[in-house]
Amino acid sequence: MPLRLVEEWLHSCSGCEIALLNMGEGLLELLPGLEIVHMPILMDHKYVSSQGEDGAEPQLSLPRAEVGLVSGGCANEEHRELLEEIRAKCDFLVAMGTCATHGGIPALTNTRGLEQTYAEVFAAADHGQAAVPDQGVPRPLDRVYAVDELVRVDLLVPGCPPNPVHLKEVLTALVEGRAPQLPTKSVCDTCPAIRRGTIEKKEVQRFTVNADYDPAQELSAMRCLLEQGLMCMGPVTAAGCARRGAPSCIQARVPCRGCYGPVRNQGNQMMDMMNALVSGGVDMKTIVDRQGLLRFSGAHNRLRKRARRRG
Ligand code: SF4
Ligand code: SF4
Ligand code: SF4
Repeated sequence: MPLRLVEEWLHSCSGCEIALLNMGEGLLELLPGLEIVHMPILMDHKYVSSQGEDGAEPQLSLPRAEVGLVSGGCANEEHRELLEEIRAKCDFLVAMGTCATHGGIPALTNTRGLEQTYAEVFAAADHGQAAVPDQGVPRPLDRVYAVDELVRVDLLVPGCPPNPVHLKEVLTALVEGRAPQLPTKSVCDTCPAIRRGTIEKKEVQRFTVNADYDPAQELSAMRCLLEQGLMCMGPVTAAGCARRGAPSCIQARVPCRGCYGPVRNQGNQMMDMMNALVSGGVDMKTIVDRQGLLRFSGAHNRLRKRARRRG
């Protein structure tokens, strides 16, 4: 019997679903062992059951499945309701992508709080004084949550978006009844740049500063970007994006921004990065946006609204 699969998106941009489809023929190879019973990006399956007593309110209902995949964090009551239904109907739940595992970019709003976010997004003068919608839309939660803050999750697969190779490994392993083999190290561990063990510049360079490298030479001839004084978050970011022998951003000669979240699921990218910089003798005052080090992992209450200073 093939495993039944339910896939859903919450506070998601659909990039994770595109990563699933980017398995390409790999997805087709999985199909004899996997029956997709619900996946909004691929099929028009209705959420609300019409069954039940006459006159009864329709209930949100998803099919039962052995495997659930969910992308996106939780920002409103609709996300929460959907997530609880997926958890209830799926034996094994996978949080797919950094929004689901660590809040991702949407959790940046946690630094502002709802009121300020609304003021900036809906009511700012340069947006034409649009009203904050309050009719026919789900009630927002107090902040953006990673899915494991609200329900039990069996496996976290980070990445913005996650690597299709790892998504295929997860699904293949589940079909074969074994534990998936996923990266456990840091982005630095997959990077061929030259490391000499000392950070050259003691002031963090802005992103407007280009790395020093010779485009005619292999990546393995380039000095580590962090050692060049650029804010490369490779040491504190989970590996997983490497293709053709190097992390994606480093291949483009730009620093890692941390999109796979912390190396350990409970790690704190901001604290770990500050430690790495201090140990390298970097002047902390030159880091202009410290909270930005949590731009992909601000759920779990790591990014909070700053308290107003008194007096
Ligand atoms: S993890 Fe990235 S690709 Fe996936 S939903 Fe979030 S923003 Fe989109
Ligand atoms: S800090 Fe960045 S450039 Fe340096 S080794 Fe790590 S990933 Fe590569
Ligand atoms: S190098 Fe860093 S920011 Fe770039 S894709 Fe990899 S984990 Fe994400």
